Amino acid sequence: MKAPKKLLPYLLAIGIGISAAGCASHIKSVSMNIAMKHQDSYKKHLSRYADDVKKLRDNEYVLPDSVYNTFTRIVIGGVPTGLHVNYAILSLGSRKQYSNELEKQGYGDFEIGSFYTMMTRSNSTLIPKRLLEHKKFDEVLTHERFHEEQNKLSFFEKRKIKKTYKQLKKDFECANFLVKNEHFKTPVDSAIHSDWQEFLPYLNDGMFHSVMDTVLVRRHPETYNLYQKLKKKVNSLSSSEL
Ligand SMILES: [Zn+2]
Repeated sequence: MKAPKKLLPYLLAIGIGISAAGCASHIKSVSMNIAMKHQDSYKKHLSRYADDVKKLRDNEYVLPDSVYNTFTRIVIGGVPTGLHVNYAILSLGSRKQYSNELEKQGYGDFEIGSFYTMMTRSNSTLIPKRLLEHKKFDEVLTHERFHEEQNKLSFFEKRKIKKTYKQLKKDFECANFLVKNEHFKTPVDSAIHSDWQEFLPYLNDGMFHSVMDTVLVRRHPETYNLYQKLKKKVNSLSSSEL
């Protein structure tokens, strides 16, 4: 039986009411300017890590470990060593989860909103505090910068890399074959295996056998040229700042 027509506006109103009530733990809207000031004052508390902190550019944020863990778990379902976010749109449920978990960790509205603004801005690199002064800090930052530059490529250039990656997986049956032995069965291994976007960043990190360069030059010269272009950009940036 269909609901009488005059009931529909009433039902819609209930629906809106329910979703509005569900927003009780909404995230305070904080502008990028204010969020940056928050980031600057957080960095001041990290003076013992000053050498690493000063390497971070305006779109690279250092976050308390628990905030970083909560956000990455919600957005990608895991906790990587660092994360480049091209654009993060969180569903209402995820926003509520993020806000509730940070509240439980003792953060106030302003801090929750500031972190959220930084983490969901397009082209952000997120670094957990624990990585500062870690021997892998420079490596992770370079890796995330590679993602950043790769994201700036055109649709056709990205498609070229994706095609090469797919072909290589097919040629070698399994991309694992190409990863250096000491890295077998690590999160790196599964990241490369499951996502074409990890291929060139990890190649730049030196995670593949050196024969990979030759394979690219001979069989995938266009991808090799893109790789060289990105490598030059990221590594020159790193050598001047890291
Ligand atoms: Zn990566």
